[in-house]
Amino acid sequence: MQDSIKRKGLMLVLSSPSGAGKTTIARALLAKDNQVQLSVSVTTRPIRKGEVHGKDYHFENQKHFEERLQSGGFLEHAKVFGNYYGTSKQSVEEIITSGKDVLLDIDWQGTQQLQEKCAQDLITVFILPPSIQALEDRLNRRATDTKEVVEQRMTESLFQISHWPEYDYVIINRDLDKSIKQIELILKAERLKRHRQVGLVDFVNKMRKKNS
Ligand code: 5GP
Repeated sequence: MQDSIKRKGLMLVLSSPSGAGKTTIARALLAKDNQVQLSVSVTTRPIRKGEVHGKDYHFENQKHFEERLQSGGFLEHAKVFGNYYGTSKQSVEEIITSGKDVLLDIDWQGTQQLQEKCAQDLITVFILPPSIQALEDRLNRRATDTKEVVEQRMTESLFQISHWPEYDYVIINRDLDKSIKQIELILKAERLKRHRQVGLVDFVNKMRKKNS
């Protein structure tokens, strides 16, 4: 019966320093749970090898990004590594109104903006690497970036980590399968929260009428 009660879609934020395994976790979650849909961000950074426009990001030039920003098209935005990143207001609204949950892979700056704008619908998860060495190893293995870019990302990652206490949940990604299971558990519990079960009042009222 519980499952048939209508619920409100939620916004699940995943943040982490680059190289902590967030993208892999996000992909696994999307593949396992068809009630979760990815918010594809808009960015001005150059496309990387293997990335697909419209799937990984919507790649836009700075002029278009700034125009969209001016016209209020972004729910949140940030400048990371000198490039703009933003979440399209329209696409998040479309996902949520279709009754699905939206997964946002965004940084701490964007998370802070959403905490101010839509705290009720927001769940924030920070993914930590098991060690700084593990982070560095993963960044080095990503052959698409130059040495300078890796160094810059390492510095940025250490700063990004300093924001961990601002999140609802923190997962130390020692074991990928375990981390994915932990996020699934978080989602399950959060979906059951009373204020997200919008059909609950009707359900209880009908139940009480039948028995009076
Ligand atoms: P990358 O360039 O490696 O794909 O992403 C760099 C950083 O930008 C990551 O920490 C990622 O979470 C963040 N990011 C990606 N899209 C958005 C977005 O739409 N908004 C914000 N605030 N950060 C984003």
